[in-house]
Amino acid sequence: MANIHQLAYRVRKFFRMLYSQAHWYCGRRCEYCHWHRAVWYYAPGYAIACDECVPRGCGCNKDSDGTEPLDERGRRSPCCEWMMFPD
Ligand SMILES: [Zn+2]
Ligand SMILES: [Zn+2]
Repeated sequence: MANIHQLAYRVRKFFRMLYSQAHWYCGRRCEYCHWHRAVWYYAPGYAIACDECVPRGCGCNKDSDGTEPLDERGRRSPCCEWMMFPD
C-alpha cells in the first residue's frame, strides 16, 4: 500500500503537470474574451485576439473590383494590420 508521502508526491506531481500545461495553454489568451487562445495579433497596437473575437471587416480587404473575399465560414477577414501567429 502506498504510504502518505508517496501519495503526496504523486498529487504534487500531478498538479505540477496540470499547471504547466494550463500555463502553456493560457500563455496567449484572447484579450477580448479572456478564454480562447489568441491566434491573431494587431501589429501596430500589440493587441491579441482569438478567431471569434478579432474585429472583422475592413475596407483594406476589398479587391480592386470592390468585393471582399470571405473565409471558409463566410466571415469577413480582419483588417490587414491583424496578423496570424505563425503556429
Ligand atoms: Zn476571444
Ligand atoms: Zn484595414
